[in-house]
Amino acid sequence: MKSEHEIIQEMQEVVEQMRIDDIEDNPDIIDETFDCDCCGETKCLAGSIEYEGYRLCNDCVLLAETGFALGKIKSVTELIEAIEDKHLEQLANFIKEEEKRENN
Ligand SMILES: [Zn+2]
Repeated sequence: MKSEHEIIQEMQEVVEQMRIDDIEDNPDIIDETFDCDCCGETKCLAGSIEYEGYRLCNDCVLLAETGFALGKIKSVTELIEAIEDKHLEQLANFIKEEEKRENN
């Protein structure tokens, strides 16, 4: 039985390898970006994966794969819902910053 720490380390290696493989297959992918359906940020296509119709960046793939491996989430939809609060918080902070700028 593997510890959580071992599973996380293993997933980090697997997901990083996906990114390296993508770059080896197509070095131009480094300059290609997309908007991640999970974190909402503009990320590099390398190491991204499409799950259930959602395209996830390499960082979110790591979250998803670790979540699946540890049995914390069962679907990508669940992961997106879990991240949504943080996503909203970032958006809220961004809006606050914009308001400050307008008032000055
Ligand atoms: Zn992402």
